[in-house]
Amino acid sequence: MQYVSTRGQAPTLPFDDVLLAGLASDGGLYVPAFWPLFSKDDLRSMRGKPYAEVAFRVMQPFVGETVPPEVLRTIIQEVYAGFDHTCAAPLKQLRSGLWLMELFHGPTFAFKDYAMQVLARLFDHILEQRGERVTILGATSGDTGAAAVEAFRDKDRIDCFILFPKGRVSPMQQRQMTTVDAPNIHAIALEGNFDDCQDLLKAAFADEQFRMGVNLSAVNSINWARIMPQIAYYFWAGIQLGAPDVPVGFSVPTGNFGNVYAAYAARQMGLPIDRLVVGTNQNDILDRFFRSGTMEILGVEPTLSPSMDIQVSSNFERLLFDMVDRDPAALANLMTGFRRDGKFAVDADQLATVSHLFQSHKVDDDAITATIRDEMAQSGELLDPHTAVGVAAALRVLAVSAKDTCPNTNALVALACAHPAKFEKAVQRALGHSPELPPRLAEMMELPEKHNGLPNDLAKLENFIQDRVRGQGAAA
Ligand SMILES: *Cc1c(COP(=O)(O)O)cnc(C)c1O
Repeated sequence: MQYVSTRGQAPTLPFDDVLLAGLASDGGLYVPAFWPLFSKDDLRSMRGKPYAEVAFRVMQPFVGETVPPEVLRTIIQEVYAGFDHTCAAPLKQLRSGLWLMELFHGPTFAFKDYAMQVLARLFDHILEQRGERVTILGATSGDTGAAAVEAFRDKDRIDCFILFPKGRVSPMQQRQMTTVDAPNIHAIALEGNFDDCQDLLKAAFADEQFRMGVNLSAVNSINWARIMPQIAYYFWAGIQLGAPDVPVGFSVPTGNFGNVYAAYAARQMGLPIDRLVVGTNQNDILDRFFRSGTMEILGVEPTLSPSMDIQVSSNFERLLFDMVDRDPAALANLMTGFRRDGKFAVDADQLATVSHLFQSHKVDDDAITATIRDEMAQSGELLDPHTAVGVAAALRVLAVSAKDTCPNTNALVALACAHPAKFEKAVQRALGHSPELPPRLAEMMELPEKHNGLPNDLAKLENFIQDRVRGQGAAA
């Protein structure tokens, strides 16, 4: 499989180079040159198979020969064997037509583990083969950083720096990043919000001398290898619920648009998905887009679902690429306008290419707490605030379908993106008491935190990194 940049000016690359590069050199995002297709029989043959086997079959065509299939298979098996549920992504029925897919069974209790754990092992394998080292720089609204720190800790060929917005991640998320005691891990509290973190990261990547000097690499969801493993759980859920013979829908709490883009990818690959519900919080740039065709940056405000507090969804560019019929010049034009004016618009025909599939709902903090309370009363499930966004959006969709003369009875799966114990404040507000901590999180609360603080300043960040990368050139 070869990968092309959405902006058309970066070289076409195979999987291993895309993995290490993260962002394309023209500022675009890498996407597969075509979608591997799974026939109905391929899908049927996945029935009854363990999660790791489904995941291997979904990922293998994207990796091709860059990693030997038996190495890939072992990596995938090891990763999901380390999760705390044998199904990796178990499904629970909430009520007729509505399911919950639990994606918090990895080491840091959020769905980011499903991809980050695979990505870190792939990095390790490829760097070992090449005798190279890299410096990972990531920006996080909370869960990505925790997942990265856990996945990369103690990897000899990798130094890992994670920027998080100071005071804007949950205390539990912060501790997951600051209590990891490994010489190659550096969590940085940046003065600013998540978008400042993302902008600073982009600036560091744009500084070519610095990027080459420390061999910089990105593991944000702009990295294709973050999307790829997530596609697997959509196949897994669909197959459990009757695909290919019955279509399935998903409701996805959305921030950077990585997770729901993985669902879109699954559909392009032949999984019958009849709808994708994009749930946003008060930071509703995506909801406004799907309703109007205009993407416009407004402010960003802190909410009860901090992992979705973003004003620009970086992965949206991948969907937009398909909306402009994979024309990189048209895409680059839109993005230039976006950078200049803080907004762009697609025309009605372009919006129509996705509006039959995507719908969106905005769920504010009051609706989040109400959903957590109601769901506890109805089904006894304790939802985290992000999951509550997806469930609330799903319930709105189902309420509309129920009024149709021909109700759509296909399954709708809401994604449970994190364990509620990570977001005490929202649970406290909804139920009047704190969530019970899983033992691993309770132990973490006792560990000392290692703090680094930095102002929003590129030179300071670069110095900080240069001072701390290990073995410069040693393995080159
Ligand atoms: C990352 C995250 C999201 C948002 O996912 P995107 O892929 O950025 O759209 C939602 N909920 C939780 C718990 C997350 O960690």
